[in-house]
Amino acid sequence: MSKPKVVILGAGYGGLVTAIRLQKQMKASEMDVTLVNKHDYHYITTHLHMPAAGTDHHDNARVAIADLIDERKIHFVKSTVSQILPEEKKVVLGDRDLSYDYLVIGLGSETETFGIPGMNEYAMSIKSINSVRFIRQHIEYMFAKSKMEPKRKEYLTFVVGGAGFTGTEFVGELADRIPVLSRTYDVDPSTVKIINIEASPSALPPGLPEDLVEYGMEVMRRKGVEYKLSTPIKECTPDGVILGNGEFIRAGTVVWSGGIRGNSLLEQAGFDVQRGRVKVDECLRSYQYPDVFITGDCSIVMSPEGTPYPANAQIAVQQGYNVARNLLYAVRGRDLKPFAYDFKGTVASLGRGEAVGLLKVKKVKGKFAALLKKVIDARYLYLIGGIPLIWKKMIFKQKTTARNYHVPN
Ligand code: FAD
Ligand code: NAD
Repeated sequence: MSKPKVVILGAGYGGLVTAIRLQKQMKASEMDVTLVNKHDYHYITTHLHMPAAGTDHHDNARVAIADLIDERKIHFVKSTVSQILPEEKKVVLGDRDLSYDYLVIGLGSETETFGIPGMNEYAMSIKSINSVRFIRQHIEYMFAKSKMEPKRKEYLTFVVGGAGFTGTEFVGELADRIPVLSRTYDVDPSTVKIINIEASPSALPPGLPEDLVEYGMEVMRRKGVEYKLSTPIKECTPDGVILGNGEFIRAGTVVWSGGIRGNSLLEQAGFDVQRGRVKVDECLRSYQYPDVFITGDCSIVMSPEGTPYPANAQIAVQQGYNVARNLLYAVRGRDLKPFAYDFKGTVASLGRGEAVGLLKVKKVKGKFAALLKKVIDARYLYLIGGIPLIWKKMIFKQKTTARNYHVPN
């Protein structure tokens, strides 16, 4: 009898952890597992705000997949998924088709622009290694350009749309980088503006207690960040942004961090989606196609209170554990185990040595919270690559001498 074929799409938090858990737990004879990812590396999305601002090297935010999986047990295919055909139990890649008995979809998210005119065309987003390399270089280019055309003040105006987790973490790093860039490019730092524009009345991620929000905003303001709250961006143009109140802010850089939606391949495949994400059953399967498991940002998991859990790395990792176990149970003919999310807490970085968050329900801030964020990062690296990976990515970091200095390749 042929082995059941398992195809995992996406080597992000959900997909990679599923593959790593399977390789640890399955017998070689039990299933035939293929992991598909468009790059030959896994990127640590939770670090991307740093290379985007240039406070860390992008190589510290990625790991070669070959270093994480045992290719005798998991076949790795570097390819881009172009179509999912759940009725035919098949996925279409750039150069081949793959059929499956069980499919795991962990293709992550796309930027949600809510149809705001010009946002797709003129704003940048923090999404991948390629996008953050581009943002960092663009920021430096603006500094260089400002010296060539000193009258164009907008070159040194940096607009960040959205002050949720992503916007906040990026703004914190960018504010830390400005003094270094100002020195490097002989720019007066007082001429640089960072404006974080947020539609809701409060900056920082929703769900944080008010005193932590105030603390966080105070830290940011001290670093020179200007907030515009209760101010939706209505349009993005090649020269800046138009706000809901009609004001136009001229800016050489617009980074959009206004939200995410699930990977569009799911909607194209005919899954019932809400903002591109699929509501899954208690075992993380599609209601329409029970042989399809969906993890991470592509999935919506409801809490016992009936509200969706936020899409984050913590839940994606826990889903990876659950899906791997349930795949083993499925091929062994055992009942599947429902997924139960264990919320351990949440921490938003505010740049160097500063963060705010919740450890379960306990409030944390300042240096302790920043340390906690590092512990969370280290824990993830340990989980996917053991102590050597912590060593490589956090201790002997690649091609950087200090946090604020980028040494070119
Ligand atoms: P991802 O990790 O995004 O992985 C998706 C994978 O699919 C990628 O490898 C991608 O290359 C691949 N892929 C996509 N399309 C295709 C295709 N067509 N073909 C082949 N492969 C494809 N969450 C936290 O809990 N804590 C944090 O501190 C935190 N910080 C964040 C910081 C930033 C800047 C950002 C943007 C997000 C952060 N998040 C954080 C959210 C977290 O990163 C995501 O929720 C998490 O990455 C989701 O995991 P995933 O497996 O669904 O997708
Ligand atoms: P988000 O949806 O959490 O935040 C987007 C922000 O943009 C919101 O505050 C929203 O009000 C604002 N916004 C939307 N439209 C706007 C407009 N027209 N003008 C101005 N502001 C507008 O998105 P995110 O911050 O990218 O986070 C995405 C997911 O990733 C979340 O689930 C988050 O939990 C997770 N994440 C977690 C961490 C962490 O744990 N440290 C870090 C980054 C991201």
